[in-house]
Amino acid sequence: MKLLITGGSGFIGSTLVLTALGRGHEVVNLDALTYAANPASLDAVRNDSAYQFEHADIRDSAALARVFAQHQPDAVMHLAAESHVDRSIDGPQVFVDTNVGGTAQLLQASTEYYRRLAADRAAAFRFHHISTDEVYGSLGATGRFSEESPYRPNSPYAASKASADMMVRAWHSTYALPTIISNCSNNYGPRQFPEKLIPVVILSALKGAPIPVYGRGANVRDWLHVEDHADALLAILERGRIGETYNVGGDAECSNLELVRLLCTELDRQHPRTGASSDQITFVTDRPGHDFRYAIDAAKLQGELGWSPRFTLAEGLAQTVGWYLDHADWCRAALTRLGGDDRLERLGLGAKG
Ligand code: NAD
Repeated sequence: MKLLITGGSGFIGSTLVLTALGRGHEVVNLDALTYAANPASLDAVRNDSAYQFEHADIRDSAALARVFAQHQPDAVMHLAAESHVDRSIDGPQVFVDTNVGGTAQLLQASTEYYRRLAADRAAAFRFHHISTDEVYGSLGATGRFSEESPYRPNSPYAASKASADMMVRAWHSTYALPTIISNCSNNYGPRQFPEKLIPVVILSALKGAPIPVYGRGANVRDWLHVEDHADALLAILERGRIGETYNVGGDAECSNLELVRLLCTELDRQHPRTGASSDQITFVTDRPGHDFRYAIDAAKLQGELGWSPRFTLAEGLAQTVGWYLDHADWCRAALTRLGGDDRLERLGLGAKG
């Protein structure tokens, strides 16, 4: 299949591009290359004849029309988004513009393209929207999100993704665009931008800097290795039912403090230094409206499509720590795009405009 993947130069997108190419798909990666992208993530496939890059913005309808006409994809996998919750608290508008407005532009361009496809290609066409479990809001100490859970987004990021999900649903109902939505829990693994929790912990520990933990670190997340997510996304694209939602999760719940301690232990094992990394743990002011707990029930995906994660959390964290230790250049390139690591100041206290 020829896949049009948006946001393919980001964390999950680059893993999906590499996985899809590895499975024999052709890939067109459409990415605006915001600060969160790192073109170095795709160095290995830059000259692969099955890979093409389009530097374009999903908010640009003319660019989208040209890309569809030129590449004639068999499916769209839509990942391009503003993705950092803390940034959405400080500056929500770009989240609305890209995640909501950009998704609407992409849906419309896909619909116009889909309507002109020959019947056999139209029957096979899919628009797969990649979303988050954060649309469901926060859980207490028990229970898990299912595909039937009500939408209760709490952060501007979660609200923008929930809005995008609703538009995907509307384009399916109104224009019969063959859509599928997947909602996934927190991802971790190689090539994640160094402002997200796991790389922040690893890179702060290596620098000898404080390792920030929000509040008392009691918030619980359900972690999934990014390669398991990419595998699930392809299973959903290839075998999922049109108009359905699939939840994706690793069944690996962990409080933030437990996670940080696991990372510190792994880092000290792979990269021994004087003193324990955990001595650098520093509790900082909590994120406003910080969702307490997310947990995913992925029974539908596992039962219908036979998917299950390959990585245990311990294996995945060990691989991730090893990757960051081996890829200082990648981290430097990512931080340079941001303007240097001094730009990694504390975000998301809601104090900015
Ligand atoms: P990321 O921030 O690492 O990458 C986002 C990519 O989108 C970047 O390459 C960026 O350049 C591109 N992009 C941003 N705005 C764009 C625009 N207007 N036009 C074109 N490209 C644009 O994000 P990620 O963590 O890889 O997340 C990818 C998708 O998966 C997002 O839609 C996110 O909501 C969703 N998701 C992420 C997680 C997670 O834990 N990271 C979990 C569930 C769902």
